[in-house]
Amino acid sequence: MHPNDFAAETTTGPPGDPSHVGVRWLGTAGYELTCGGTTLLIDPYLTRVSLPRFVTGPLLPDVAAVDRVVGHADAVLVGHSHFDHVLDVPYIAKRTGAHVYGSRSTANLMQAAGLPAAQVTELDHGRTTVFEVGPFRVTAIPSAHSPFALGKKVPFPGDIPCTCELPVRGKHYRCGDVFSYRIDVAGRSLYHLGSANLIDEAVPKGGDGDVDLLLLCIAARFAVPDVIRRSLKAVRPRRVMPMHYDNFFRGAERSLQLLPMTRFGRFVDDVVGYDRDLTIATLPLLGRMELGP
Ligand SMILES: [Zn+2]
Repeated sequence: MHPNDFAAETTTGPPGDPSHVGVRWLGTAGYELTCGGTTLLIDPYLTRVSLPRFVTGPLLPDVAAVDRVVGHADAVLVGHSHFDHVLDVPYIAKRTGAHVYGSRSTANLMQAAGLPAAQVTELDHGRTTVFEVGPFRVTAIPSAHSPFALGKKVPFPGDIPCTCELPVRGKHYRCGDVFSYRIDVAGRSLYHLGSANLIDEAVPKGGDGDVDLLLLCIAARFAVPDVIRRSLKAVRPRRVMPMHYDNFFRGAERSLQLLPMTRFGRFVDDVVGYDRDLTIATLPLLGRMELGP
């Protein structure tokens, strides 16, 4: 389905209208959600450091690349503290004043970057946390990271320590605790699952009704048994948008390339096998759509 078809299907009001919910894919697991003048970012990663740079040196945000895309932001939700989810967050938070929500590992990184403690909320991985950002009601849910198929280990496990001194190399961006996010806004709901794994029983049941759109990481998913079906079963979305399949070692100005082992067709087969009436939505890199009721 072309993203414009999806937008046409779901159009309500113009941007700025409190009934308008905008969804923009920033690449990797990154999203920008907008409603009535409030902007929420999830795992924004625009730097897209090259593989040689990742391997050889400490990582710094590409501020020009961030500034080209990110304007105003009120809050940033961080799913886990790998570099491709969190590297740009300190710079974005400093520039915009956005409040940052994430794990202890993420909070340690923000402290190391000099962000005031009052601008950071450390989430407890032992429970679900609910908070509001303007019209957005956010539920942070304990989740899990997928292990790599080789060795079946979570890459760069453990926490970023509070003694961290920036900049650090990519391998020091430790995973930390992992959270997924349910977001309810203007009568609609989204669910962000930023790594291809989950704690099935932690996903809230019922509540405000069905999830309109599941933003689902499909990278590095094959060491997690049946993860697509389990994610769909736990979240029960009306539509699913695969994400984190783009090769994030490649700049956004170049054509999108799939990560190795994405097996996009297999993802489609898994979704159709679970529920052939479920809509699969996609966006181009940096593309937007409006989420209708
Ligand atoms: Zn990760």
